[in-house]
Amino acid sequence: MFENLSERLSGVFDRLTKQGALSDEDVKTALREVRVALLEADVSLPVARDFVKAVQEKATGQAVTKSVTPGQQVVKIVHDELQHVLAGDDDNPGELKIDNAPAPILMVGLQGSGKTTSTGKLAKRLKEKNGKRVLMASLDIYRPAAMQQLEILGTQIGVDTLPIVAGESAVQIAKRAKQQATLGGYDVYMLDTAGRLQIDETLMQEVEDVRDVVNPRETLLVVDGLTGQVAVEVAEEFDGKIGISGVVLTRMDGDGRGGAALSMRAVTGKPIKFVGLGEKMDALETFEPERIAGRILG
Ligand code: GDP
Repeated sequence: MFENLSERLSGVFDRLTKQGALSDEDVKTALREVRVALLEADVSLPVARDFVKAVQEKATGQAVTKSVTPGQQVVKIVHDELQHVLAGDDDNPGELKIDNAPAPILMVGLQGSGKTTSTGKLAKRLKEKNGKRVLMASLDIYRPAAMQQLEILGTQIGVDTLPIVAGESAVQIAKRAKQQATLGGYDVYMLDTAGRLQIDETLMQEVEDVRDVVNPRETLLVVDGLTGQVAVEVAEEFDGKIGISGVVLTRMDGDGRGGAALSMRAVTGKPIKFVGLGEKMDALETFEPERIAGRILG
């Protein structure tokens, strides 16, 4: 997920740790290289700048450069700062608020971002790892194929889907899903909303109407991690218009740079809750900042 960045950083830090004694100037030079590595990973400029500044403030001055293992101290500071940039002040961003049954989860995002796939993956996870009874419903009235796709996924993973009824509006389907989830004793119902190729007013209005009808416990934005900074811009827009509670970052199996993962929290203030790591139904991981910071630093 972060192979390129990880390789670049390990080059910088290998040199630093081998060097023994360090001056403030050595630290500065290394951090300049860190900044370039972050920008090459498609991390947004203000995030890269703030990151380096925060590390610099902690790493220069007496304590670090005078310590016995200054290089390792710098690496530790970078590690902690990476974790901070990935997680903000949340302890557990992967946790979902789904205690009051039936808890609605609204899945939103652009077409092709991996929304339907992620809905299936998350339903499977909630069923198998959390022991939840899940109902899924497709609200994509524009693409019958998308509705069928969710139904097929449901059969594959053993999760119920709301029967497809032709001619209903998205809001009508959402109401029916809510009713069936309540009557059927489901713990969670997931609404896979329609996507567009670009953000447009009709799409946003429809999602807003659905949101107002079901009052979701979680509104998860699915974005394609391969699009880097664009993924972060999409998240900002969706959050501004409909309010999101978290992000599912897909296609991270194909992204050696990981810039979207690093900028998302700092730019949007919203946590990445899950990452998609493939097309299969179990290729979904919770986003654990500490483990990921460790992975980036090798
Ligand atoms: P939607 O239009 O947003 O509902 O997108 P889909 O769920 O139909 O996904 C579009 C394509 O992306 C499908 O071929 C998926 O198998 C693929 N896809 C979704 N998530 C991932 C992921 O995390 N990694 C990879 N490699 N492919 C993914």
